[in-house]
Amino acid sequence: MVFTFQADHIVSRKHGGLTVIENLANACSVCNQNKSSDLGTYLPGSNRLVRLFNPRKDVWRKHFKAVNGEIIPLTKIGTATVKVLDLNDADRVNLRRLLTIQGRYP
Ligand SMILES: [Zn+2]
Repeated sequence: MVFTFQADHIVSRKHGGLTVIENLANACSVCNQNKSSDLGTYLPGSNRLVRLFNPRKDVWRKHFKAVNGEIIPLTKIGTATVKVLDLNDADRVNLRRLLTIQGRYP
């Protein structure tokens, strides 16, 4: 896994997002690839579209907490983001656990 960041459009250009600082966020390549141009998703058992976490507008700790390497969603926005970005893929959880042991995460 590579530890470099990419400038990701929060609202993709495909959906009218501009290349301005307010619409850009650092993202690892895995998150950027998993998010693609998505803006939200449907959660199981619901037909309401839930938007993704916006790192420029939302507060991380209101929507997530990290427990033993796992990202636990606290809201529907958190749940949608964990799902779309596949934040709890086993390799990613293991990497966070290793970084935690080394004092490098969170
Ligand atoms: Zn990431």
